[in-house]
Amino acid sequence: MNVDVVVVGGGFVGLFTAYRLHKSGFRVVVAGGDGPRLGASWGNAGLIHQGSTTTVPEILGFWRVVRLALRRGSYISSNPKVALKESLPGGWIWRYARSLRREQHIRREAVLTELAREGKSMWLETIRSEGLDVELLERGSLEAFFSEELFNLEARVVADEASRLGYRVQLLSGEDCREMEPLLKEGVAGGIHYPDDVWLNPSKALESLVSALERLGVEVAWERVKAIEVGGDGVRVEAGGRVLRAEHVVLAAGAWVGKILKSLRLKIPLIAGRGYLAVSEPVNERLSRPIFYADEKIVISQTAGGNLRFTSYFELNDPDAPLDHSKIIQMTRKVRNALNISGDTRIVDEWVGSRPCLPDGLPVIGRVEAAGRILVATGHCRLGLTLAPTTAKLVEDIITGRETPNLRHFSPARFM
Ligand SMILES: Cc1cc2nc3c(=O)[nH]c(=O)nc-3n(C[C@H](O)[C@H](O)[C@H](O)COP(=O)(O)OP(=O)(O)OC[C@H]3O[C@@H](n4cnc5c(N)ncnc54)[C@H](O)[C@@H]3O)c2cc1C
Repeated sequence: MNVDVVVVGGGFVGLFTAYRLHKSGFRVVVAGGDGPRLGASWGNAGLIHQGSTTTVPEILGFWRVVRLALRRGSYISSNPKVALKESLPGGWIWRYARSLRREQHIRREAVLTELAREGKSMWLETIRSEGLDVELLERGSLEAFFSEELFNLEARVVADEASRLGYRVQLLSGEDCREMEPLLKEGVAGGIHYPDDVWLNPSKALESLVSALERLGVEVAWERVKAIEVGGDGVRVEAGGRVLRAEHVVLAAGAWVGKILKSLRLKIPLIAGRGYLAVSEPVNERLSRPIFYADEKIVISQTAGGNLRFTSYFELNDPDAPLDHSKIIQMTRKVRNALNISGDTRIVDEWVGSRPCLPDGLPVIGRVEAAGRILVATGHCRLGLTLAPTTAKLVEDIITGRETPNLRHFSPARFM
């Protein structure tokens, strides 16, 4: 089969890239891997976030992150082998520590803010123009702190950071928080309201985007790419049981891009920062908006059908490692300390997914080999849902040869 572009990866970055390229007149096929549930896009927290993306420990320095990771039951953890390997000079943790300098952080946030704003408008525009069924909620989000000490330490830093970047944020008292979200238990010390955050149900959005692409005539094949070969007249891609030939290949396979590049003898320092999702059976209560339970770093949201969704954790591990069920139990127990929910919130689905993370906190979007036929678009870590549409636009700029000043920030050459 001959096409213009093969997009490898069926998460939001791959699907938006296919959508954008199709709209520009390219013949596109998506080789999406082993199924929609595998990628981070399927089970994430669902926030198109409009606020600072750096966490407070990162702002306060590397050793604070290390102390957090060493704490029992912490939301940050690592497979010991991965921690050891990646702490060596040149490893991911080693590079990450060096990227936490104030000036780097300011530069990164400025770049991401621009992308996040545009990402939100592009999401809303696509939802409306394609009639996507995503359970859209345009009511902002609420970050709630139960510990007074943590509120005093973090809330002001986060709010100042967000205001510096031009986002709208509002610091709230505990009373204000409970007025905004009556399901919060007594004892909330305070919170932050992000009025411009938008929520969508990610698994629904993913399915709906796939259906929209299929309606437009773009094939989304749930098959894994096994081999890629660059020749003089194009790229040969083996996926499932067939061979695809294309002018360009876009590697948008999230945390798996590292493995694919390795087979091409190329390397970027990409790591999987794994996060967990627990879905409860439907409850009688209705959340007003997504709640970020700051003390435990858990995002609590609710589907249109009434199921509660809990997402949390940042676990450095192989993207194919099995799910750690104890994390699901721990997370569910913690949520019950924050919300007044009747019944026993029985968990009906559990999931783990891999955020594709690069040590300097910026994605890679660009060409990776001499012939310029293979592009990468990954590394969005905690922000891939928010940034997928803008990433797709940048990929289109590269393929159509448009000069875009922003692209220099995302060049894979910074690691090669
Ligand atoms: C718990 C959690 C909460 C999050 N919350 C948010 C949030 O609120 N807001 C936000 O903006 N971001 C959030 N994120 C981050 C976001 O989910 C990711 O950044 C984003 O989904 C990455 O999208 P992607 O398309 O690059 O990769 P993925 O969604 O991981 O997709 C990768 C795709 O590649 C496929 N693949 C793998 N290998 C192959 C192969 N060999 N051949 C073909 N296909 C292959 C996989 O099957 C998959 O379809 C969260 C992530 C997690 C885990």
